[in-house]
Amino acid sequence: MRIIDIHTHAFPDNVAEKAIPLLEEEGKIKAKLDGKISSLLSSMDKHGIEKSVICSIATKPTQYNPILKWSKEINSERIIPFPSFHQDDPFVFERIEEIKKEGFKGIKLHPYYQKFVVDEEKMMKIYDKICKENLILVLHTGFDFAFERVKIADPEKIMNVKRVFPNLKLITTHLGAWEDWDNVEKYMIGKEVYMEISFSLEFLEKERAKRMILAHPSDYILFGTDSPWTDQGETLNLFKKLKLPSELEEKILYLNAEKLLFQKDN
Ligand SMILES: [Zn+2]
Repeated sequence: MRIIDIHTHAFPDNVAEKAIPLLEEEGKIKAKLDGKISSLLSSMDKHGIEKSVICSIATKPTQYNPILKWSKEINSERIIPFPSFHQDDPFVFERIEEIKKEGFKGIKLHPYYQKFVVDEEKMMKIYDKICKENLILVLHTGFDFAFERVKIADPEKIMNVKRVFPNLKLITTHLGAWEDWDNVEKYMIGKEVYMEISFSLEFLEKERAKRMILAHPSDYILFGTDSPWTDQGETLNLFKKLKLPSELEEKILYLNAEKLLFQKDN
């Protein structure tokens, strides 16, 4: 069985040594790996994961260049980096063009770490540009365990974005929106919006997670783990325990992501 993990994190080795303990403290969570690419690759080997998308997050404008440089270095058959920019970067539109020109498939943005509201005006202009460049956007959605529970990335706001940009290749995280699953069911399930499943199966009752997945368009669910904040193998086990029809399993684990990432028109 072929597997693509659409949502992981890693850092340059020297950054990982500092960043992981800091993020562990902020999020009150223990990482399962040390945040280095080599560790992610061994985890992928161990659990039969063919490719992982690495989501970077620029928490300030100056992080754009180092993130882009590193993303180019690590780009490989198995590692698919999604660079990031900060929304307050004065060159934000040029950044999006550059990311596309460099051949990257997508971008990662995180409303809590970067401090924006997903449907605010400034962001709409950014999504418009991302859409025009035909890039994928992995957007953290729902609450975040490291932050106070303010509603800046909830299902209603996500759908406001989708209404304006129906063609935006938007991937929402954590089965639509972390710990806001009542609203996911109310506003998102059944709509053509991508969701990856990281950090949801650990929190949702198995039958409910299964019901939500089965009620969503089968092309729009993706496998993601948020490694190193979860163990790729554990997420995979939880996913397999749902006992979804095997055709759907295959779509979620590989085919949907493959189509998004490697479609010819991209
Ligand atoms: Zn993440």
